[in-house]
Amino acid sequence: MRKQVIAGNWKMNKLLGESEQFIDEVKGQVPSADQVESVVVAPFTALHSLVQKTKGTDVKIGAQNMHFEESGAFTGEVSPEMLKDIGVEYVVLGHSERRELFGETDETVNKKTHAAFKHGLTPIVCVGESDEQRENNETFTVVENQVKNALEGLTTDQVKATIIAYEPIWAIGTGKTATAADANEVCAHVRQAVKEFAGEEAAEAVRIQYGGSVKPANVEELLGQSDIDGALVGGASLQPESFLALVEAGK
Ligand code: PGA
Repeated sequence: MRKQVIAGNWKMNKLLGESEQFIDEVKGQVPSADQVESVVVAPFTALHSLVQKTKGTDVKIGAQNMHFEESGAFTGEVSPEMLKDIGVEYVVLGHSERRELFGETDETVNKKTHAAFKHGLTPIVCVGESDEQRENNETFTVVENQVKNALEGLTTDQVKATIIAYEPIWAIGTGKTATAADANEVCAHVRQAVKEFAGEEAAEAVRIQYGGSVKPANVEELLGQSDIDGALVGGASLQPESFLALVEAGK
């Protein structure tokens, strides 16, 4: 039985004080981490404080990106070692906004996935097709290639520990959600792809989230699907009440 993982991706939102206030409101109310993994994926500027605030609670903290190198002349970048050093546990890699706006490629996502494991961080690897690719019936191929490229070279145990987020680009921030059945079909295809290159055990263990306009009103139906093991949520994760409703649904 795979444990659901609900991650709130705040993107470029919330000042430090707002982030801290959010955590103060939710930290005593999220379900036990034995039942569901509740992750807040915050901007870099809030990470250290939020890790401190959530110590001993059931809320885990994630970053939205990182570089794959450990240190060096990479102005403006943050390394996996830096995240680990301050107690961050998860890192979102290859989000479509990073792929579209900041030149992230399958190759850099793969390097970052390896770097995450090297430093004991759990990667949340994002994949998903554009509107045009969906229209051209390329969804399965696109998503399958992204998954294979991102996870290439990982050990079976690392694949098992990876979280994959399937986020159709046309559903992100648009209010358009894939139907639960459509989302599940793609997630099942992702699992099949994992089985082909990493074996059945890895495919059964890997957790696959759906993301794209998830909200309290649709989360239960999505999480109820056979191959959906959680959600990566942007807009609806910004309010404490709505974040709490989402993690409750993951129990
Ligand atoms: P959304 O964003 O929930 O606002 O659609 C999801 C995401 O980009 O992770």
